[in-house]
Amino acid sequence: MRPALPSDTDTDTDADANADALLEALARPIVFVDLETTGGNATTDRITEIGVVEVSRAGVERWSVLVDPQTPVPPFIEKLTGIDDAMLCGQPTFASLAEALIERLSGKLFVAHNARFDYGFLKNEFRRAGLTFRADVLCTVRLSRALFPSVQRHGLDSLIARFGLAPEGRHRALADADLLWQFWQKIHEVYAQDLVDAAVKALIRRAALPAALPESALDALPSTPGVYVFRGDDDLPLYVGKSVNLKQRVMSHFSGDYRLAKDLAISQTIRRIEAHETVGELGALLLEAKLVKELEPVHNRLLRRAAAGTCAWQWLAGAHAPVLIHAKKRDFSREDGLFGVYQSRAKAHAHLRRLADEHGLCHATLGLEKIPTGSVRGCFGYQVRRCKGACVGAETLAGHAARVREALDASRVLRWPHAGPIAIAERDDETKRVAWHVVDRWCYLGSCASVDEIEPLIGAAPQAYSFDADVYGLLAKRVAAGELDWIACDVRPAFSLCVQEMAQPRPAAQKAIRKPVRKRSNENPAQLALSLA
Ligand SMILES: [Zn+2]
Repeated sequence: MRPALPSDTDTDTDADANADALLEALARPIVFVDLETTGGNATTDRITEIGVVEVSRAGVERWSVLVDPQTPVPPFIEKLTGIDDAMLCGQPTFASLAEALIERLSGKLFVAHNARFDYGFLKNEFRRAGLTFRADVLCTVRLSRALFPSVQRHGLDSLIARFGLAPEGRHRALADADLLWQFWQKIHEVYAQDLVDAAVKALIRRAALPAALPESALDALPSTPGVYVFRGDDDLPLYVGKSVNLKQRVMSHFSGDYRLAKDLAISQTIRRIEAHETVGELGALLLEAKLVKELEPVHNRLLRRAAAGTCAWQWLAGAHAPVLIHAKKRDFSREDGLFGVYQSRAKAHAHLRRLADEHGLCHATLGLEKIPTGSVRGCFGYQVRRCKGACVGAETLAGHAARVREALDASRVLRWPHAGPIAIAERDDETKRVAWHVVDRWCYLGSCASVDEIEPLIGAAPQAYSFDADVYGLLAKRVAAGELDWIACDVRPAFSLCVQEMAQPRPAAQKAIRKPVRKRSNENPAQLALSLA
């Protein structure tokens, strides 16, 4: 049998009119909590007393409970609190109270003075009891500091003096918890409800910061576009994300409600946030895709899997159906007649099947359905009049092929339309900053701040790179539409230079980068590609 929490709670029936109005205005119940402990360390010390003032629309309830810490109370604590070993002997242990307690505290705003201390102690005690405790936490020290920034001291004794609070004792859990409830009422006399609400809301977000992150970790983040990397123990990459506002996006991961299991898992293991500012959104998107591949973060699994299965349909001259080819084996940036791109074989098949149904094409001729050779009944689609009969000779294979090409045309893959790498300019009109994003064969090599840095960047790029579906997805349409401002970088990749030097020695000066030729975006590279295809 598990012990219940004390039933001799003292319910306020004579709360005054102000308090009544305050209760009415509550968005959700609040628990004002204070703990007494055997010391200041949440992992080695134990709770000896829990005092709670519960405030809800139903009224105010006060209760406290002594807890057997199963360890002696040090003399200085005994002196401070008046709680000694004799008082605690025979009291319930925390483990025996844990279930009832977590039920009582759950779903309520957890308010405490130096809340990190009380919340941390409770979380650890619950963890030892095999339970996970999470709450939105509000620290009254921080609240006082936010509402009265010119005041130096925000300790409980200072609050008592400044607001004329009436302590019913000090350094006992319930008495101290009650002081917080009194403080709460006082600030509502001084400030309008919406002002207090706004301060509380801002502080709760902050308090939900993962325990291992220092508060300065968020303050240090810029409100600019960029990419962030969450890192855990041993700097293990946990998650890579991008945003046009780094600070806002990172905060949203730790908003406290942890609706995404991923965010909860991250918050429990994160140790450090790494931020990479970019000039604009395009730079952030390109860098995110690159870092996800390089770092393989634990919580970006979806993206990683997608990269491995990249494939496309290819139409070979004279064929009756497209064949599926994989980016692992072929360089898509240099292939002709490609349609897609797809993240997986299954997605490629699903798309072709959908096109076939929409355009009355033959599943059997496309290789999506097996029928006996020389079948007179045709494919299933022919029997239900969806296929126009390429499978039974009612439509010529050439006619069918022409219709398949037409259906696929909208998903034609744009071949890399340049002789070498290009550098795409991204500018921020406000800060006047510019970034050059260097891309070759639909592969992002990196970004730099000036044209002079492009050559060294290309020189330092990995020697073998090939079609990157993410980069293709980000850039192909914009390249085709002529939306981008770019220059050609007429420099050969390092590896082909080596090969050439061996075959045909040249003076070193000639292999240097030629002055980039400035191109205007109205020179539409897409047309070049389409005429090649
Ligand atoms: Zn058919």
